[in-house]
Amino acid sequence: MRDREADWLPIPEAIERILGVIEPVGTEELPLSELVGRILAEEVTSPIDHPPWDNSAMDGYALRGRDIQGAGPDFPIELEVIDDIPAGAFPSLPIGEGEAARIMTGAPVPVGADSVVRVEHTRGGATRDVVGSRVEILAYSDSYRNIRLKGEDLEKGDLVLEGGRPLRPGEVGLLAMVGRRGAIVRRRPRIAILSTGDELVGPDRFEEVIAGRKIIDSNSPMLVAALLEAGCEPIPLGIAADDEESLLEHLQRALELEVDALITTAGASVGEFDLVQDALDELDYTPDFWRVKMRPGSPFAFGTLSGIPVFGVAGNPVSVLVTFEVILRPALRKLQGRSSLYSPTIHVRTGEEIPGARGLTRFVRVRLERAPAGHWVASLTGPQGSGILTSMSAADALLVVPEGVPAIGEGELAEAIPLLVGDPAVTALDFKA
Ligand code: AMP
Ligand code: MG
Repeated sequence: MRDREADWLPIPEAIERILGVIEPVGTEELPLSELVGRILAEEVTSPIDHPPWDNSAMDGYALRGRDIQGAGPDFPIELEVIDDIPAGAFPSLPIGEGEAARIMTGAPVPVGADSVVRVEHTRGGATRDVVGSRVEILAYSDSYRNIRLKGEDLEKGDLVLEGGRPLRPGEVGLLAMVGRRGAIVRRRPRIAILSTGDELVGPDRFEEVIAGRKIIDSNSPMLVAALLEAGCEPIPLGIAADDEESLLEHLQRALELEVDALITTAGASVGEFDLVQDALDELDYTPDFWRVKMRPGSPFAFGTLSGIPVFGVAGNPVSVLVTFEVILRPALRKLQGRSSLYSPTIHVRTGEEIPGARGLTRFVRVRLERAPAGHWVASLTGPQGSGILTSMSAADALLVVPEGVPAIGEGELAEAIPLLVGDPAVTALDFKA
């Protein structure tokens, strides 16, 4: 064992140091059906104008706006229907004075027409064999309206999507629209997870838990879930005992599996730090820092093992998830090649006084309720000990009490990180500790 001095880095500095080490993973090409949640790794431009022609935004009649000025229910204006243009068809005639063409939404607008009057503002116009019949226009409010212009969504050559953005359904639709059958995206980062501690067992040994001799390793399944939800491929390595041999054996496996990063939990607090540290030191490990000014989760260590980032996270399950939200998420996003790294935060009002943690930024688990005035009110989800996982599962958000703030008074504004399922794509407000 050797002494190790705590760095006590402010959160933004800890994140910056980590981001400075992390390089995005490689790429792969996937079909549209497999793109959702992936990070685009190419620039996509449009080979077409969209829409490809001026087209109708309504079912109705294409006509000349000046022909229907003053039309109303008591002053119908009659036009001759000279053409019928369903979606998928093209106009056969230009529209002249006193003429109209029946047109469906999306169909190309004929030459000469500058307006589409919706069908609700018309009368007559035989449903079948409409050509040759007459239609009465009952309102002029649609004159010079309801035409979607060629290229108003995208013009040929336009940048459609930049690399580095997460692909949501809207982006997949856009890719399809410009003729793509797939795209080049980052592969999912492979992240190894290692639980450490003699007190831990897996679910196969639950009888020892019932007998009061062991506790279940909840961190591994929790991190598997967090990583899956964040778009990574989790690789659980199991539980290492609190001895160097067992730790070494598990760390070796992470190296053999060629993972992109490793998360260890526990064995990182003051008394235990050197256990994981000593094992890492037997291998090609470069420590970067230990301890961050946050609560929970302060005994956080970071370094690289043969170039692979290693996140040494405190053992308490709540610390694990808070650290995941605050520190690991931006790191994983960088690994995923994403351009926006930080989670969006919201502003809420506190429903009670919330004490800070002296020199540390404190993250408390809160439930959010909408006040009648429309803003969110945050209240604590019960006792906030870092071993109390129910406080996390009941939470809608992590409320931030910044370093140096003794308490946030009842009714005051505070910043909170929503705990959402799915990954918001909003370019975040930078996280400020
Ligand atoms: P440590 O960081 O080893 O001091 O662990 C802090 C606390 O977290 C202890 O109460 C551990 O029993 C608990 N803990 C550590 N690892 C896990 C785990 N994988 N699952 C559940 N609890 C854990
Ligand atoms: Mg331990």
